[in-house]
Amino acid sequence: MEQIILDGKQVSKKVRESLKEKVTDLKAKGIIPCLATILVGDDPSSETYVKMKGNACEKVGIKSIRLHLPKETTTETLIETIENLNHDSSVHGILLQHPVPSHIDERAAFESIAIEKDVDGVTSAGYGQTALGFGKYPSCTPAAIMKIIDDYDIPVDGKHAVVVGRSPILGKPVSALLLNRNATVTTCHSHTTNLPEIVKQADIVIAAVGKPKFIQGDWIKKGAVILDAGYNKGNIGDIDYEACLENASAITPVPGGVGPVTISMLLKHTVEAAALTE
Ligand code: NAP
Repeated sequence: MEQIILDGKQVSKKVRESLKEKVTDLKAKGIIPCLATILVGDDPSSETYVKMKGNACEKVGIKSIRLHLPKETTTETLIETIENLNHDSSVHGILLQHPVPSHIDERAAFESIAIEKDVDGVTSAGYGQTALGFGKYPSCTPAAIMKIIDDYDIPVDGKHAVVVGRSPILGKPVSALLLNRNATVTTCHSHTTNLPEIVKQADIVIAAVGKPKFIQGDWIKKGAVILDAGYNKGNIGDIDYEACLENASAITPVPGGVGPVTISMLLKHTVEAAALTE
């Protein structure tokens, strides 16, 4: 069987090229799309992620404002900062890099982001709208998974999708997006019994566990499509890639799969939010 390697870098490149054109059009109308990123504390990986997102914005012409708050910042101060951005009409998207330091009420901070600027899909209203099928900005990794599926014309309707993971930013929203597209969805988690047997029934496997090489090759049905959102230390995904490749019909690599498209979805949502202010 000839496997298709689902090339996230290629998908991402196409998205970013089309965004450049949209940004140019918006600028001609006097609108400069702008994403504000907020980083609290000095976690080095979070600093790297925020820098990558800011740089990606600038490459397509999106303005990026980076707010770096000290690790002692209180929930109240963080919410005040977010509310100021909510009221700033030059800002179209707000991204709070998470995790935030443990003394901060992260959920309360997310909830303070105005729905029309929630380009990272972290508010409960955004999640609810996504689940009900009219959300504008689903969380970026689920949006990236759907974008790859669509770019490669992978059929979803009537297929059995097994999502391993149920986090609010990944497993749950991607399950909702697949369900909205008429997949039969099974969402698995750490209390699921017989996980290998369930994964074996999947036409589409979404790996969102956060454990390196967790999903094994002999769990994969012949011809299944695998999208690996995992990103673990050492650039390792949540599936055992070489072993899963043998049975898959299409598969995302790590790196170069879901990751690059995730950032492109953040940029896309920011440009769309800016366009809505026309
Ligand atoms: P998370 O919040 O830690 O959630 C992990 C999920 O996996 C939980 O729902 C957990 O179940 C489930 N799980 C843990 N052990 C399991 C087991 N033995 N069997 C079945 N399910 C199990 O992680 P996340 O934020 O969703 O991220 C998941 C992965 O995606 C990570 O590798 C992360 O780095 C990656 N990620 C990538 C991107 C990207 O841009 N590519 C973005 C975000 C995240 P419980 O709910 O029962 O605890």
